[in-house]
Amino acid sequence: LLPVPSTGLLSAAVVDALPRRRTDGTKFRSGHVLIVGGAPGMTGAPCLTARGAMRAGAGYATLAVPAGVESTVAARAPVETLTLALPAADDGAVAATAADVVLERLRTRRATLVVGPGLSRGPERDRLLRALIAGHDGALVVDADGLAALAGDPEALRARTASATRPTVITPHAGEMARLLGVELEAVGEHRLATVRDAARRTGAVVVLKGDDTLIAAPDGRVAISPGGAPGLATAGTGDVLAGVVGALLARDVEPFTAASAAVWLHLRAGLRAAEQHGVEGTVAGDVAEAVAIVRRDHD
Ligand code: AMP
Ligand code: MG
Repeated sequence: LLPVPSTGLLSAAVVDALPRRRTDGTKFRSGHVLIVGGAPGMTGAPCLTARGAMRAGAGYATLAVPAGVESTVAARAPVETLTLALPAADDGAVAATAADVVLERLRTRRATLVVGPGLSRGPERDRLLRALIAGHDGALVVDADGLAALAGDPEALRARTASATRPTVITPHAGEMARLLGVELEAVGEHRLATVRDAARRTGAVVVLKGDDTLIAAPDGRVAISPGGAPGLATAGTGDVLAGVVGALLARDVEPFTAASAAVWLHLRAGLRAAEQHGVEGTVAGDVAEAVAIVRRDHD
């Protein structure tokens, strides 16, 4: 039986609890986020994740993308980021064998792994995800097509979450959640709280069920609620930005439920902030990434 959940509305306090860079800080201590994603036709998504990560405080971001799109991604990414070319499958997206390249890089450079933005779907990605889940010892964020690779098999994440030293956060929207759990989309909409708690229990991960309102659940029963109401965020790419923000906070060794909660709070406030400047209709995901920095500054 799960413990009675302590269900709390997110507040600014969750950001007050985040670590600050020390005056003698180095880029290495600021944290490294390695993003696996991108595919032909989907080069923007991982770039937005890198932008979110850097604006949320990461000292480094590396974009690990299929070799055929590496130069495109490098040209579109924030100039501060690194790229890593991965073996591609026949469809031009990341091959399953890319797991070896990613894991090798993670052995030499400790990093939080964010998998999924613009990754694309297919059996190669299904195998890639399982190899990364089993092989990566550090923190992990799974979003977007990374979640599609685990469709109907949320327990696949248990291969790593069984160990408490492997912080894991997943960030599905309702459609991705339905596919992950193998349930109808309507069921997720009608039972959001029960669904997010069930997903946390079955995966052993911290689960962020995105939407207008967003629910965050930990496997131990904790639940946090973000009330939403930021329609400036209802535009392509904002979820990719959020994944980068979560990654940046995990890269600073923030406990995963706190990292996910603080990221959602910062992201919501950034969406409101960006809409003040660009209007609700005119806000784009890149504006939200920039605004994350401003929101953090105002809560220093
Ligand atoms: P995705 O569905 O992956 O593109 O992610 C969209 C992001 O925007 C998620 O973090 C959602 O929670 C957020 N979002 C979308 N619409 C709203 C809204 N009306 N109010 C607050 N957040 C929203
Ligand atoms: Mg998304």
